[in-house]
Amino acid sequence: MADDCLFCKIAAGEIPSTEVYSDEDLYAFRDINPAAPSHVLLIPRKHIASLAEVQAEDAALLGKLTCTARTIAETEGLIEDGFRCVWNCGAGAGQAVFHIHMHILGGRPMTWPPG
Ligand code: 5GP
Ligand code: ZN
Repeated sequence: MADDCLFCKIAAGEIPSTEVYSDEDLYAFRDINPAAPSHVLLIPRKHIASLAEVQAEDAALLGKLTCTARTIAETEGLIEDGFRCVWNCGAGAGQAVFHIHMHILGGRPMTWPPG
C-alpha cells in the first residue's frame, strides 16, 4: 500500500466505497461520478501507479483483472449490449488517480473516438 493513495485506501476499506467485486488480488467499486448508467472501477490491491509502470511480473495479475472485468460486465448485465473498458494512462490522457484502474462502462450507447 502506498502512502496517500486514494485507491489503496479504498481497497483497504479505510475510505468507504460501493463494492462490486472483491477478492485477495482485486477490488471493484462504483465510480463516485459515473459517466454511464453502469460505471465500475476495477483495481489491483497492489499499488501500481499507471499502465506505464507495469512490469513483466504483473502479467498474471493484469490477466486476472481482465478476466474479472468480463465477470463484472456479466453481473452488471452488459454483455448483450456491449461495454467499454478504459485505462487512462498519464495526466494528458485524463488520469487523475495514480493507482492503476480499469473503467468498466455500460448501459448506454458509446461513441468513438472518445473525447
Ligand atoms: P481517472 O481520471 O484517473 O482515469 O479516473 C478516476 C476516477 O475515479 C474518476 O472517474 C472519478 O470519478 C473516480 N473517483 C475519484 N475519487 C473517487 C472516490 O473517492 N470514490 C470513488 N468511488 N470514485 C472516485
Ligand atoms: Zn495505490
